[in-house]
Amino acid sequence: MINVFQPSLGEEELAAVAEVFKSDWLGHGPRTKDFEAAFARHIGVPADNVVFISSATDGLFLTTELLGLGPQDDVVLPSISFVGAANAVAATGARPVFCDVDRHTLNPSAEDVERSLTPRTRAVLPLHYGGHPGAIDDIARLCRERGITLIEDAACAVTSAVDGRACGTFGDLAVWSFDAMKILVTGDGGMLYARDPGAAQRVRALAYHGLDQFSGRSRSAKVPRRWWELSVRDFGHRMIGNDLTAAIGGVQLRRLPEFQRRRQAVVEAYDELLAGIPGVRLPPRPPAGHTTSGYFYWVQLPPAIRDRVAADLLDRGVYTTFRYPPLHRVPAYRAETDLPGADRAAESTLLLPVHQSLDDADVRTVATGFRDAVERAAAAART
Ligand SMILES: *Cc1c(COP(=O)(O)O)cnc(C)c1O
Repeated sequence: MINVFQPSLGEEELAAVAEVFKSDWLGHGPRTKDFEAAFARHIGVPADNVVFISSATDGLFLTTELLGLGPQDDVVLPSISFVGAANAVAATGARPVFCDVDRHTLNPSAEDVERSLTPRTRAVLPLHYGGHPGAIDDIARLCRERGITLIEDAACAVTSAVDGRACGTFGDLAVWSFDAMKILVTGDGGMLYARDPGAAQRVRALAYHGLDQFSGRSRSAKVPRRWWELSVRDFGHRMIGNDLTAAIGGVQLRRLPEFQRRRQAVVEAYDELLAGIPGVRLPPRPPAGHTTSGYFYWVQLPPAIRDRVAADLLDRGVYTTFRYPPLHRVPAYRAETDLPGADRAAESTLLLPVHQSLDDADVRTVATGFRDAVERAAAAART
Protein backbone atom coordinates (compact mmCIF):
# COMPACT_ATOMS: atom_id res chain seq x y z
CA MET A 1 0.00 0.00 0.00
CA ILE A 2 1.10 3.56 -0.64
CA ASN A 3 -0.01 5.73 2.28
CA VAL A 4 -1.31 9.26 1.98
CA PHE A 5 0.78 10.36 4.96
CA GLN A 6 3.79 8.64 6.45
CA PRO A 7 6.42 9.68 9.00
CA SER A 8 10.17 9.22 8.52
CA LEU A 9 11.74 7.84 11.67
CA GLY A 10 15.11 6.13 11.85
CA GLU A 11 18.34 5.47 13.65
CA GLU A 12 18.86 9.04 14.78
CA GLU A 13 15.49 9.22 16.51
CA LEU A 14 16.14 5.80 18.09
CA ALA A 15 19.51 6.98 19.40
CA ALA A 16 17.90 10.10 20.87
CA VAL A 17 15.28 7.95 22.60
CA ALA A 18 18.02 5.65 23.92
CA GLU A 19 19.72 8.69 25.47
CA VAL A 20 16.50 9.59 27.24
CA PHE A 21 16.22 6.05 28.61
CA LYS A 22 19.76 6.31 29.98
CA SER A 23 19.03 9.65 31.61
CA ASP A 24 16.34 8.05 33.80
CA TRP A 25 14.13 11.08 33.16
CA LEU A 26 11.22 10.76 30.76
CA GLY A 27 9.09 13.65 31.97
CA HIS A 28 9.06 17.33 31.13
CA GLY A 29 12.69 18.41 31.50
CA PRO A 30 15.84 19.62 29.78
CA ARG A 31 15.09 18.01 26.41
CA THR A 32 11.69 19.68 26.40
CA LYS A 33 13.39 23.03 26.99
CA ASP A 34 15.90 22.31 24.21
CA PHE A 35 13.16 21.37 21.76
CA GLU A 36 11.17 24.52 22.61
CA ALA A 37 14.28 26.65 22.08
CA ALA A 38 15.11 24.95 18.77
CA PHE A 39 11.54 25.29 17.50
CA ALA A 40 11.43 28.94 18.57
CA ARG A 41 14.59 29.55 16.49
CA HIS A 42 12.99 27.70 13.59
CA ILE A 43 9.99 30.06 13.55
CA GLY A 44 11.99 33.11 14.63
CA VAL A 45 10.48 33.94 18.02
CA PRO A 46 11.85 34.05 21.62
CA ALA A 47 12.01 30.64 23.32
CA ASP A 48 9.89 31.81 26.27
CA ASN A 49 6.95 32.34 23.91
CA VAL A 50 6.62 28.70 22.81
CA VAL A 51 5.28 25.81 24.86
CA PHE A 52 5.65 22.13 23.96
CA ILE A 53 2.29 20.51 24.59
CA SER A 54 0.59 17.15 24.16
CA SER A 55 -1.19 17.90 20.86
CA ALA A 56 -2.29 20.70 18.59
CA THR A 57 -5.89 19.98 19.57
CA ASP A 58 -5.03 20.54 23.23
CA GLY A 59 -3.31 23.71 22.11
CA LEU A 60 -6.47 24.94 20.38
CA PHE A 61 -8.45 24.27 23.57
CA LEU A 62 -5.81 26.18 25.57
CA THR A 63 -6.07 29.20 23.25
CA THR A 64 -9.85 29.52 23.49
CA GLU A 65 -9.71 29.04 27.26
CA LEU A 66 -6.92 31.59 27.57
CA LEU A 67 -9.08 34.15 25.77
CA GLY A 68 -11.88 33.53 28.25
CA LEU A 69 -14.40 33.03 25.47
CA GLY A 70 -18.00 32.46 26.49
CA PRO A 71 -21.58 32.20 25.20
CA GLN A 72 -21.61 35.90 24.25
CA ASP A 73 -18.74 35.44 21.78
CA ASP A 74 -18.36 34.37 18.14
CA VAL A 75 -15.26 32.89 16.55
CA VAL A 76 -14.91 32.90 12.76
CA LEU A 77 -13.22 29.90 11.17
CA PRO A 78 -13.25 28.40 7.68
CA SER A 79 -15.82 25.65 7.19
CA ILE A 80 -12.95 23.59 5.76
CA SER A 81 -11.24 23.26 9.16
CA PHE A 82 -10.08 20.47 11.40
CA VAL A 83 -13.01 19.52 13.65
CA GLY A 84 -10.92 20.07 16.79
CA ALA A 85 -10.83 23.80 16.04
CA ALA A 86 -14.62 24.06 16.16
CA ASN A 87 -14.70 21.82 19.23
CA ALA A 88 -12.24 24.13 21.01
CA VAL A 89 -14.54 27.07 20.33
CA ALA A 90 -17.75 25.27 21.27
CA ALA A 91 -16.23 23.95 24.52
CA THR A 92 -16.16 27.51 25.87
CA GLY A 93 -19.80 28.10 24.97
CA ALA A 94 -18.79 30.46 22.17
CA ARG A 95 -20.34 30.07 18.72
CA PRO A 96 -18.24 28.88 15.79
CA VAL A 97 -19.17 30.95 12.72
CA PHE A 98 -18.05 29.32 9.49
CA CYS A 99 -16.72 31.34 6.60
CA ASP A 100 -16.30 30.24 3.00
CA VAL A 101 -13.07 29.27 1.27
CA ASP A 102 -11.76 29.54 -2.27
CA ARG A 103 -12.90 26.43 -4.12
CA HIS A 104 -9.41 25.79 -5.51
CA THR A 105 -7.04 26.82 -2.70
CA LEU A 106 -9.45 25.75 0.08
CA ASN A 107 -8.17 28.74 2.06
CA PRO A 108 -10.34 31.75 2.94
CA SER A 109 -9.60 35.23 1.63
CA ALA A 110 -9.68 38.22 4.00
CA GLU A 111 -13.04 39.11 2.36
CA ASP A 112 -14.42 35.65 3.17
CA VAL A 113 -13.45 36.22 6.81
CA GLU A 114 -14.74 39.79 6.84
CA ARG A 115 -18.15 38.76 5.50
CA SER A 116 -18.58 36.41 8.47
CA LEU A 117 -17.58 38.89 11.20
CA THR A 118 -20.32 39.87 13.62
CA PRO A 119 -20.36 42.46 16.41
CA ARG A 120 -19.67 39.50 18.74
CA THR A 121 -16.58 38.20 16.93
CA ARG A 122 -13.73 37.89 19.43
CA ALA A 123 -11.36 35.73 17.41
CA VAL A 124 -10.59 34.44 13.93
CA LEU A 125 -9.15 30.94 13.63
CA PRO A 126 -7.89 30.05 10.15
CA LEU A 127 -5.62 27.19 9.13
CA HIS A 128 -3.09 26.97 6.31
CA TYR A 129 -4.72 24.50 3.97
CA GLY A 130 -2.31 21.72 3.06
CA GLY A 131 0.52 23.93 4.32
CA HIS A 132 -0.25 26.75 1.85
CA PRO A 133 -0.03 30.05 3.77
CA GLY A 134 -3.13 31.51 2.09
CA ALA A 135 -4.11 35.12 2.73
CA ILE A 136 -2.70 35.07 6.23
CA ASP A 137 -1.09 38.52 6.02
CA ASP A 138 -4.36 40.12 4.82
CA ILE A 139 -6.32 38.27 7.49
CA ALA A 140 -3.82 39.39 10.15
CA ARG A 141 -4.22 43.01 8.97
CA LEU A 142 -8.02 42.73 9.10
CA CYS A 143 -7.86 41.35 12.65
CA ARG A 144 -5.49 44.10 13.80
CA GLU A 145 -7.76 46.79 12.33
CA ARG A 146 -10.81 45.36 14.07
CA GLY A 147 -9.10 44.53 17.36
CA ILE A 148 -9.91 40.84 16.94
CA THR A 149 -7.58 38.10 18.19
CA LEU A 150 -6.01 35.95 15.47
CA ILE A 151 -5.37 32.30 16.33
CA GLU A 152 -3.49 30.40 13.60
CA ASP A 153 -4.04 26.69 13.29
CA ALA A 154 -0.56 26.14 11.84
CA ALA A 155 -0.83 22.40 12.59
CA CYS A 156 0.30 21.37 9.12
CA ALA A 157 2.36 24.47 8.30
CA VAL A 158 5.61 23.52 10.01
CA THR A 159 7.80 24.93 7.23
CA SER A 160 5.31 27.36 5.67
CA ALA A 161 6.19 31.03 5.40
CA VAL A 162 5.36 34.29 3.66
CA ASP A 163 8.43 36.31 2.62
CA GLY A 164 10.47 34.33 5.11
CA ARG A 165 8.09 34.92 8.02
CA ALA A 166 6.88 31.64 9.51
CA CYS A 167 3.18 30.82 9.38
CA GLY A 168 1.97 30.82 12.96
CA THR A 169 3.74 34.08 13.78
CA PHE A 170 1.25 36.37 12.01
CA GLY A 171 -1.34 36.29 14.76
CA ASP A 172 -1.56 36.40 18.54
CA LEU A 173 -1.61 32.67 19.18
CA ALA A 174 -0.76 29.60 17.09
CA VAL A 175 -0.45 25.84 17.30
CA TRP A 176 1.56 23.26 15.35
CA SER A 177 0.97 19.51 15.36
CA PHE A 178 3.53 16.72 15.59
CA ASP A 179 1.02 13.87 15.53
CA ALA A 180 1.79 10.62 13.74
CA MET A 181 0.54 11.84 10.35
CA LYS A 182 2.29 15.18 10.21
CA ILE A 183 5.65 16.08 8.60
CA LEU A 184 7.56 16.49 11.85
CA VAL A 185 6.31 13.78 14.20
CA THR A 186 6.81 13.05 17.89
CA GLY A 187 4.12 10.37 18.17
CA ASP A 188 1.79 12.88 19.72
CA GLY A 189 2.70 16.44 20.46
CA GLY A 190 2.28 20.03 19.48
CA MET A 191 3.72 23.49 19.95
CA LEU A 192 1.89 26.58 21.07
CA TYR A 193 3.13 30.10 20.39
CA ALA A 194 1.83 33.17 22.19
CA ARG A 195 2.98 36.59 20.98
CA ASP A 196 2.42 38.09 24.44
CA PRO A 197 4.97 36.73 26.95
CA GLY A 198 2.40 36.96 29.76
CA ALA A 199 -0.01 34.84 27.74
CA ALA A 200 2.73 32.27 27.14
CA GLN A 201 3.34 32.14 30.88
CA ARG A 202 -0.37 31.60 31.55
CA VAL A 203 -0.43 28.84 28.93
CA ARG A 204 2.40 27.05 30.77
CA ALA A 205 0.40 27.13 33.99
CA LEU A 206 -2.88 26.18 32.28
CA ALA A 207 -1.16 23.24 30.58
CA TYR A 208 0.07 21.90 33.92
CA HIS A 209 -2.58 21.91 36.65
CA GLY A 210 -2.46 25.69 37.01
CA LEU A 211 0.85 25.42 38.86
CA ASP A 212 2.49 28.81 39.23
CA GLN A 213 6.04 27.43 39.28
CA PHE A 214 5.40 25.75 35.97
CA SER A 215 4.64 29.06 34.35
CA GLY A 216 8.31 29.87 34.82
CA ARG A 217 7.58 32.72 37.20
CA SER A 218 9.83 31.29 39.87
CA ARG A 219 12.42 29.71 37.60
CA SER A 220 15.17 32.05 38.72
CA ALA A 221 14.01 32.09 42.34
CA LYS A 222 15.67 29.88 44.91
CA VAL A 223 14.03 26.55 45.76
CA PRO A 224 11.37 27.39 48.35
CA ARG A 225 11.75 25.98 51.85
CA ARG A 226 8.74 23.68 51.38
CA TRP A 227 9.05 22.89 47.71
CA TRP A 228 6.14 20.44 47.86
CA GLU A 229 3.54 23.07 48.57
CA LEU A 230 1.15 23.99 45.77
CA SER A 231 1.05 27.44 44.32
CA VAL A 232 -2.15 27.19 42.31
CA ARG A 233 -4.11 30.37 41.66
CA ASP A 234 -6.17 29.06 38.79
CA PHE A 235 -7.25 25.60 37.72
CA GLY A 236 -5.43 23.88 34.91
CA HIS A 237 -5.08 20.76 32.80
CA ARG A 238 -2.33 18.31 32.01
CA MET A 239 -1.42 18.96 28.43
CA ILE A 240 2.37 19.06 28.48
CA GLY A 241 4.95 17.35 26.32
CA ASN A 242 7.75 15.25 27.74
CA ASP A 243 11.47 14.60 27.23
CA LEU A 244 10.90 11.38 25.30
CA THR A 245 8.75 13.00 22.63
CA ALA A 246 10.86 16.18 22.73
CA ALA A 247 13.99 14.14 21.98
CA ILE A 248 12.32 12.71 18.87
CA GLY A 249 11.13 16.18 17.94
CA GLY A 250 14.62 17.64 18.19
CA VAL A 251 15.98 15.13 15.68
CA GLN A 252 12.98 15.56 13.36
CA LEU A 253 13.43 19.33 13.41
CA ARG A 254 17.04 18.95 12.25
CA ARG A 255 15.89 16.65 9.45
CA LEU A 256 13.13 19.00 8.34
CA PRO A 257 15.09 20.59 5.45
CA GLU A 258 15.76 17.10 4.07
CA PHE A 259 12.03 16.22 4.37
CA GLN A 260 11.12 19.50 2.73
CA ARG A 261 13.40 18.90 -0.26
CA ARG A 262 11.96 15.45 -0.91
CA ARG A 263 8.36 16.64 -0.60
CA GLN A 264 9.08 19.45 -3.01
CA ALA A 265 10.53 16.96 -5.50
CA VAL A 266 7.43 14.75 -5.17
CA VAL A 267 5.16 17.76 -5.76
CA GLU A 268 7.15 18.77 -8.86
CA ALA A 269 7.03 15.21 -10.20
CA TYR A 270 3.24 15.06 -9.73
CA ASP A 271 2.85 18.47 -11.41
CA GLU A 272 4.67 17.10 -14.43
CA LEU A 273 3.21 13.58 -14.54
CA LEU A 274 -0.38 14.69 -13.94
CA ALA A 275 -0.46 17.66 -16.28
CA GLY A 276 -3.11 17.80 -18.96
CA ILE A 277 -5.57 15.14 -17.77
CA PRO A 278 -8.96 16.27 -19.10
CA GLY A 279 -11.23 17.52 -16.31
CA VAL A 280 -8.49 17.38 -13.66
CA ARG A 281 -7.16 20.43 -11.88
CA LEU A 282 -3.84 20.34 -10.05
CA PRO A 283 -3.24 22.27 -6.81
CA PRO A 284 -2.60 25.99 -7.30
CA ARG A 285 1.08 26.96 -7.18
CA PRO A 286 1.79 29.16 -4.17
CA PRO A 287 2.19 32.83 -5.12
CA ALA A 288 5.65 34.42 -5.17
CA GLY A 289 7.07 34.78 -1.67
CA HIS A 290 4.93 31.97 -0.26
CA THR A 291 6.59 28.79 0.99
CA THR A 292 4.36 25.76 1.51
CA SER A 293 5.15 22.77 3.67
CA GLY A 294 3.61 20.65 0.90
CA TYR A 295 1.55 18.75 3.44
CA PHE A 296 -1.26 18.02 0.99
CA TYR A 297 -1.16 17.45 -2.74
CA TRP A 298 -4.71 17.80 -3.92
CA VAL A 299 -6.34 17.26 -7.27
CA GLN A 300 -9.82 18.41 -8.23
CA LEU A 301 -12.10 16.22 -10.32
CA PRO A 302 -15.63 16.37 -11.65
CA PRO A 303 -17.75 15.43 -8.59
CA ALA A 304 -19.45 12.69 -10.63
CA ILE A 305 -16.22 10.65 -10.81
CA ARG A 306 -14.25 11.69 -7.68
CA ASP A 307 -15.41 8.84 -5.41
CA ARG A 308 -15.02 6.25 -8.14
CA VAL A 309 -11.44 7.35 -8.76
CA ALA A 310 -10.68 7.10 -5.03
CA ALA A 311 -12.14 3.55 -4.89
CA ASP A 312 -10.23 2.48 -8.00
CA LEU A 313 -6.94 3.80 -6.58
CA LEU A 314 -7.59 1.97 -3.32
CA ASP A 315 -7.98 -1.26 -5.32
CA ARG A 316 -4.57 -0.53 -6.82
CA GLY A 317 -3.01 -0.11 -3.39
CA VAL A 318 -2.96 3.69 -3.38
CA TYR A 319 -4.68 5.47 -0.49
CA THR A 320 -6.23 8.85 -1.07
CA THR A 321 -8.44 10.92 1.19
CA PHE A 322 -10.16 14.26 1.61
CA ARG A 323 -9.48 16.76 4.39
CA TYR A 324 -11.38 18.51 5.90
CA PRO A 325 -15.08 17.79 5.34
CA PRO A 326 -16.94 21.11 5.71
CA LEU A 327 -18.00 21.73 9.29
CA HIS A 328 -21.21 23.51 8.31
CA ARG A 329 -22.38 20.05 7.12
CA VAL A 330 -21.29 18.14 10.25
CA PRO A 331 -24.26 17.24 12.52
CA ALA A 332 -22.83 18.97 15.61
CA TYR A 333 -22.24 22.21 13.73
CA ARG A 334 -24.83 22.13 10.99
CA ALA A 335 -25.52 25.66 9.85
CA GLU A 336 -27.84 26.92 7.14
CA THR A 337 -25.08 29.11 5.80
CA ASP A 338 -24.51 29.22 2.07
CA LEU A 339 -20.83 28.41 1.54
CA PRO A 340 -20.52 27.50 -2.15
CA GLY A 341 -16.70 27.47 -2.22
CA ALA A 342 -16.47 24.97 0.65
CA ASP A 343 -19.25 22.78 -0.77
CA ARG A 344 -17.74 22.75 -4.24
CA ALA A 345 -14.26 21.96 -2.89
CA ALA A 346 -15.61 19.15 -0.72
CA GLU A 347 -17.21 17.28 -3.61
CA SER A 348 -14.33 17.63 -6.06
CA THR A 349 -11.10 17.42 -4.05
CA LEU A 350 -8.93 14.35 -3.46
CA LEU A 351 -5.61 14.24 -1.62
CA LEU A 352 -2.92 12.09 -3.25
CA PRO A 353 -0.09 10.49 -1.25
CA VAL A 354 2.71 12.89 -0.46
CA HIS A 355 5.40 12.15 2.06
CA GLN A 356 9.16 12.17 2.15
CA SER A 357 9.50 8.37 1.92
CA LEU A 358 7.88 8.13 -1.51
CA ASP A 359 10.49 7.09 -4.05
CA ASP A 360 10.32 7.87 -7.76
CA ALA A 361 8.71 4.51 -8.53
CA ASP A 362 5.94 5.18 -5.96
CA VAL A 363 5.28 8.57 -7.50
CA ARG A 364 4.98 6.99 -10.96
CA THR A 365 2.69 4.26 -9.58
CA VAL A 366 0.37 6.90 -8.13
CA ALA A 367 0.45 9.06 -11.24
CA THR A 368 -0.13 6.19 -13.69
CA GLY A 369 -2.83 4.72 -11.48
CA PHE A 370 -4.52 8.09 -11.21
CA ARG A 371 -4.50 8.74 -14.97
CA ASP A 372 -5.91 5.29 -15.56
CA ALA A 373 -8.55 5.59 -12.85
CA VAL A 374 -9.74 8.94 -14.21
CA GLU A 375 -10.00 7.56 -17.74
CA ARG A 376 -11.97 4.55 -16.58
CA ALA A 377 -14.28 6.59 -14.35
CA ALA A 378 -14.89 9.10 -17.14
CA ALA A 379 -15.66 6.31 -19.63
CA ALA A 380 -18.05 4.69 -17.13
CA ALA A 381 -19.76 8.03 -16.51
CA ARG A 382 -20.33 8.47 -20.25
CA THR A 383 -22.17 5.17 -20.62
C1 LIG B 1 -3.41 17.48 12.48
C2 LIG B 1 -4.16 18.73 12.58
C3 LIG B 1 -4.70 19.14 13.80
C4 LIG B 1 -4.68 18.31 15.04
O1 LIG B 1 -3.40 18.03 15.51
P1 LIG B 1 -3.22 17.01 16.74
O2 LIG B 1 -1.81 17.24 17.17
O3 LIG B 1 -3.45 15.65 16.19
O4 LIG B 1 -4.19 17.36 17.78
C5 LIG B 1 -5.35 20.37 13.87
N1 LIG B 1 -5.46 21.14 12.77
C6 LIG B 1 -4.97 20.78 11.58
C7 LIG B 1 -5.12 21.69 10.41
C8 LIG B 1 -4.30 19.55 11.44
O5 LIG B 1 -3.83 19.20 10.24
